[in-house]
Amino acid sequence: MTEVTQAPERAKKGDLRRISHWIGGRVTPGESGRVGPVYNPAQGTQTSEVDFATAEEVGQAVAAAKTAFETWRSVSLSQRQDLLFRIRELVHDRLDEIAAILTDEHGKVLSDARGEVQRGLEVIEYACGIPTLLRGHFSEQASTGIDVYSIRQPLGVVAGITPFNFPAMVPMWMWAPAIACGNTFILKPSEKDPSASVYVAELLKEAGLPDGVYNVVHGDKVAVDAILDHPDIAAVSFVGSTPIASYIYKTGTANGKRIQALGGAKNHMVVLPDADIDMAADAAVSAGYGSAGERCMAISAVVAVGDAADPLVDAIGARLPKVKVGPGTDPESEMGPLITREHRDKVASYIDQGREQGATVVADGRETAPDGGGFFLGVSLLDHVTPEMDAYKDEIFGPVLSVVRAETYDDAVRMVNENPYGNGVAIFTRDGGAARQFQFDVQVGMVGINVPIPVPVAYYSFGGWKASLFGDSHIYGPEGINFYTRGKVVTSRWPDPATSRVDLGFPQTR
Ligand code: NAD
Repeated sequence: MTEVTQAPERAKKGDLRRISHWIGGRVTPGESGRVGPVYNPAQGTQTSEVDFATAEEVGQAVAAAKTAFETWRSVSLSQRQDLLFRIRELVHDRLDEIAAILTDEHGKVLSDARGEVQRGLEVIEYACGIPTLLRGHFSEQASTGIDVYSIRQPLGVVAGITPFNFPAMVPMWMWAPAIACGNTFILKPSEKDPSASVYVAELLKEAGLPDGVYNVVHGDKVAVDAILDHPDIAAVSFVGSTPIASYIYKTGTANGKRIQALGGAKNHMVVLPDADIDMAADAAVSAGYGSAGERCMAISAVVAVGDAADPLVDAIGARLPKVKVGPGTDPESEMGPLITREHRDKVASYIDQGREQGATVVADGRETAPDGGGFFLGVSLLDHVTPEMDAYKDEIFGPVLSVVRAETYDDAVRMVNENPYGNGVAIFTRDGGAARQFQFDVQVGMVGINVPIPVPVAYYSFGGWKASLFGDSHIYGPEGINFYTRGKVVTSRWPDPATSRVDLGFPQTR
């Protein structure tokens, strides 16, 4: 059994790798003197130090991006497309290298890390279609001798602020469409696993992206606030927890910026009595414990309706001893460690709390976590959880899955809709009519029908409802293209000078 209060081993200062900013096409060491620790969560040891930017250093990145924008916005669509194809090839070729960085700093197993890069790659592939995506409309002869057409233009310098749980994919959701649309980009990645963003910067340079189009500033609230306050940043995309998403939205919009801020989640999986119980149990285990539950689309609450509950809990419970927990570099491992010791301890605390508040602990992951200094917690299952318990109310973001029992379909839907979050939801049933009613009833942005993690493909857009999204725009896909551009409508006439005259009346179309 792992002792959940163990302190991580601290490396000697001289052994630590330093992770610096990337500004104007080169590594730019920070000068603030403020740094943050980066760990290998499977070993529980600090491996690196990441520079934390000052407002001035953020300003340097903005200046580089602003200069680059002047030329980047004029680069033809076919040249941008050509470059995006080269980026696509490089990311594809280096997928294993990126995945290894993710496993090293985040802890997720290598197969999952590869999957993350693959899903990010799909967004890059979508962005390769930018000539088609930016096509406007044209109305010939809208009035006599007058044509009207619409174009979409980039915003300028835009920024992205990203969470720890997808250090490669979530930034790709942002920078790929942003630069394809002709913007220049500043990324403030999570300070917990920042290396992938700098490795990708090197790939973009190798592909031929001009200096200053993609920049990385590392840091904490100081860097984030400098982004939100900077007058030359036109828009900010944020993905992270709900309190910070709300702060980013309020502060950014008060400063006149366009904001999309995706927040946290509490994703329900509703299992109706007619569902295939084995299939539902496989899905609950996969979606509840994949990436150690540190996915914004992870299933956190299984809502078992009526008679489904007992067989479902038995079926999930039977699968848990087979889940192999271990270092992400071990090909046998199916679930890696959590991101930090503090987070692991917080997640583990829901097990005792759940028991104290009346839940049944079916599996206690503290008893099955691998020994050693890594931030591991085994798979944990709580049954008879109710909406009043903390395990239900909080996001948790770890491998503690709750089963909530509902008497009827209506009770289950009410529970989903009364929850403050609305990111993802799934229903498991054999009844097409019930599934169709469910998609109509639920107040959630992404719905899975017998699909536990319904992350939309790259040519749709990703986003939740309620406290899972602040702002009007979902991310990537068509809404991502809209977010990173603004429309302009041109009314054009090439008159015969002989017909020109003064007319102070309001322009008529007939
Ligand atoms: P987080 O909110 O702690 O951090 C996200 C970003 O905000 C990081 O870059 C961080 O440096 C910055 N930040 C943190 N505290 C800040 C503060 N006080 N002021 C300004 N900036 C601050 O989130 P996290 O722990 O890195 O990621 C996990 C969370 O992200 C979960 O809640 C998860 O659901 C959510 N998430 C949501 C989605 C989605 O698409 N909706 C996707 C992935 C993750």
